[in-house]
Amino acid sequence: MQELSLNISHECEMQCLGCELSAQNSLSAKYLDNLISSGQFFNKFSKKKIINLYGGNPILNSSFSKLVTFLHKESVFIRVWSHLNISIDYLLKIKPYVNQWCFYFPYFDSIKYQEYVGRHKFGDFDSMVKEIVSEKINPVLYMEVKQDMLSELPSIIDYVLQRNVELWLFFYKKQFTSSIIKDIYYCSRYKNIFVIPCSTQLEVGCCRVPVSSNSSFERQLVYAKIVSFFKHFQTKFNIA
Ligand code: SF4
Repeated sequence: MQELSLNISHECEMQCLGCELSAQNSLSAKYLDNLISSGQFFNKFSKKKIINLYGGNPILNSSFSKLVTFLHKESVFIRVWSHLNISIDYLLKIKPYVNQWCFYFPYFDSIKYQEYVGRHKFGDFDSMVKEIVSEKINPVLYMEVKQDMLSELPSIIDYVLQRNVELWLFFYKKQFTSSIIKDIYYCSRYKNIFVIPCSTQLEVGCCRVPVSSNSSFERQLVYAKIVSFFKHFQTKFNIA
């Protein structure tokens, strides 16, 4: 695997339905601090080109700034998985050290969004997307496709094209029939939309992220980009 994925927080400001964050699965600030200060970080974790930091909200780990500063100096590509109930000032402060921000996009429908997330409104999410884009942070939005959002996929495509942001749509293969999977893949015909099939269920105690300590997300992402390239090609030349 060319990447390392670290769960560094079991805390989150949101209250999403069914989210079970557990301290057992995350690395504490004290532990990370010690590894960095003692020069043991890459003895404990083998050095990889890409590091995914996820949680909960990884930013809530009090060692987050120290960790990304350290990894940046080590020339690691840092990808952070978080949500958009977040301080823009902090994002701007930490921006030079983070290569890619992925923000959770649970629902497009504003009622379902509020029902699911609890502490955030879709309007606030959308305002943050616009603000972040205007600050040239270039976010990736990531969304888990659920049965009750299939009819919204065309509106979701319109939304991300309008906001000019990248969308990573992931889904669990066993939850859908092959004809629905074909429909989901149809989305990857559009610019900056990548469809990522996952064969394993989510880790207990993490946000709805398609990465885990023992999976290779990078390979799936590269594959999704190749599929998308061929779908664009098919669309351009009107091949079915
Ligand atoms: S699903 Fe993600 S954003 Fe929602 S409460 Fe859990 S960690 Fe927070």
